[in-house]
Formats: sequence, C-alpha cells, structure tokens
Amino acid sequence: MSSGTRMLLHACCGPCSLEPTRIFAQEDVEFSIHYANSNIFPPEEYEHRLSTLREHVCDPQDIELIEGDYDPSAWEREVAVYGTDREARCRACYRLRFEETAREAKKRGFDTISTTLTISPYQLTDVILEELEAAAARHGLNVDARDFRDRYQEATRISREKGMYRQNYCGCRFSIAEAQAQREAAKMQRDQEKHIRHVALLCMAAEGVRTQK
Ligand code: SF4
Repeated sequence: MSSGTRMLLHACCGPCSLEPTRIFAQEDVEFSIHYANSNIFPPEEYEHRLSTLREHVCDPQDIELIEGDYDPSAWEREVAVYGTDREARCRACYRLRFEETAREAKKRGFDTISTTLTISPYQLTDVILEELEAAAARHGLNVDARDFRDRYQEATRISREKGMYRQNYCGCRFSIAEAQAQREAAKMQRDQEKHIRHVALLCMAAEGVRTQK
C-alpha cells in the first residue's frame, strides 16, 4: 500500500541512489528521480553519471527518471563565484540544484522533495539538509530530510559488485583539483608511515645484532 507521499528525489549519481531508492521503495513511498546536476564538469562526465543512474538504478526498478536542465553557465554564474571557499560554494551549489528540483516537483504535482546527496560522508550534510528544507519551504512542499550516511559502506559494496562507474570527485571543476590534492596528501601520509615502519625494523634488527655480540 502506498504511503500517500508523492516524492521527487533529487539524485546526484547511480551509486549514491542505490540505497535511498531501495529504502523509499521498501517504505512504499511513490517517487520519481530528478537528475538536476549542472555542477558536473565536463559534459561527458554528466552524461556518464546519468547513464549509470539509468542503467543500474532506474531501469531495473522501473523508476521514472526526469532529467533537469543541464546549464553549466548558471552554475558558473551562481556558484563558481565562491571559488575555493568550499562551504559557501557547496551551499550555493546545493541551493541551485534543490531549487530546480523543488520547482519541478511543484510543476508536476509532487508534494515532497528529498535528495540522495546525504549518503556521502564527503558532502556537507548539515548544509545539504538546510538547503533542502529551505527549497521545500520556498515552494510550499514537504521535505524528507534524511541523513543516509550510515548506508554509504553498503552502497559502495553493491556498486562495486555491480561494476558501476564510480567517480572519484564530487562534480565541479574545483572538486577535480581538491580530490586530487586529497589523494596526494593521503599517499604522502601512507609513504611516511611506511618509511617510519621500515626505519623501526632496521633499528630493531641492528639492536638484535648488538645484543648477540
Ligand atoms: S564540491 Fe560538489 S557540492 Fe561543492 S560546489 Fe563542487 S560539485 Fe558542488
């Protein structure tokens, strides 16, 4: 039996949509997916994420997929102005996308909006939920403001098992460089730890030789 809710679920990509769609379906929520992501750069990446979402999430579960207007110039105008100020930039980015989802929901007669973005521990969860609620309020809609972070490990496992495309950056041109810098910092940290372990082993071996003499 339907829960009575008609929800438009903003989705950022296939892997992040696996668990939220499973959970909403289990709760008998009637929902469609809205792929509204003008943040994604370059356009081929936008298409790749969209086709992954369609192939692995929407088609197998027979979920309606509504594509938003891909408008990178709007993103440049309203979001890129914040540059490397990550919190301000991401807030503006969530606002742009949720505003589009809320407008679409109102136009098509949905009563509630939600998003898959909160599954990622790399996103700013509190900011996402604030902007989602604000977008819903502006359009007189209900909001299902859920934090899906506890499903991240499972979503990662399933998406790997299915061989889904898994991007290694959030989406915008700034995040390509930020993700690269994070990977390099993590590698440097691992290399340093490896070096420290190696030196410790050498010291222990030298100590062993001394005590045998
Ligand atoms: S890092 Fe992600 S959420 Fe933040 S501005 Fe870039 S695409 Fe948007």
